Amino acid sequence: MTFSLKSLGRLAGLGRRPAQAKRDLPAAQDVDFIPAADLRVEVCPLCGDRSAGRLSVYPALDGRFRGRIVWWCESCGSGFVPNARALIADYYAAAYAAEIKRDRALSPEAYADPATRAASPAIARHLARVDQQIAALRRLGGAFDAVLDYGSGPGYFLRALDPTVKLAVEPDAASRPHLDAIGARVTTLDAVEPSSLDLIMASHALEHLCAEDLMATLRAMKAALKPDGLLYVEVPQGALSALRLAYRHEPHTIFFSPPGLEQAVRRAGLTIVERFYRSPGRGRRRANAMWAPDRQDPFQAEMGGGMTVVARRPPGRAAP
Ligand SMILES: [Zn+2]
Repeated sequence: MTFSLKSLGRLAGLGRRPAQAKRDLPAAQDVDFIPAADLRVEVCPLCGDRSAGRLSVYPALDGRFRGRIVWWCESCGSGFVPNARALIADYYAAAYAAEIKRDRALSPEAYADPATRAASPAIARHLARVDQQIAALRRLGGAFDAVLDYGSGPGYFLRALDPTVKLAVEPDAASRPHLDAIGARVTTLDAVEPSSLDLIMASHALEHLCAEDLMATLRAMKAALKPDGLLYVEVPQGALSALRLAYRHEPHTIFFSPPGLEQAVRRAGLTIVERFYRSPGRGRRRANAMWAPDRQDPFQAEMGGGMTVVARRPPGRAAP
């Protein structure tokens, strides 16, 4: 990959947003220096193309992320923070809940109380999202007895769906009492019995991974699913390479474009059965777009938010 200071400067305006209240900003922190070697990208970790890449600064308010570089794929339009492992190594255990997901500090009893839920816009938003997701799953049909929620948070989805077997992958310590309260077992993908799950939900989770781990994670999900089991992925629209998206992006470390998400799921050996947006029409075209969606494809032409792909593990006995 090659880049010039000129191209970096051109993309530095990615994701400009309205001014945000100072109280929303976490305390300033020192940013890390990034070794130039970390920015060498041979293939796009989403679409797999050996395309040229472009760089931008991270369009972030939080100093830990603002100091980073984002690599953008000229083929699929997705972006990611190269080698974000150290950046997020300890982040999700405590900082994420303390700084962003403050509702998790409630007791499980208060959390489940309808009065608390009615008074909390954050919880109400999560519950509305879960209701829409469950309605979409019901339309697809099938039994969802053994379910893993990958990046479950406090278990909004598992609580509402209430499957017989509830598994959760969640590093946040503040979510643990809530998961315990609903009988969800916290686990890792590697520890799940192969071919045992009817459904894996990954709602607003994959964009928090190191891009270098994305394909291994998707392949592990495929292995954990029963033949014909479903993977439900929802991520925020991340095609800042083509759109102006004026909302907070940190702590995301992968910025999914529609084809980037689709191709990653397909490359993992899954068959896409459904594609849609929960919030249509959010993207406004950038004047200096570096990548153009396929206007013949309604999913790409729409470029909304709550980007959703539902995929099926193909029938067959052997796990990959
Ligand atoms: Zn790509």
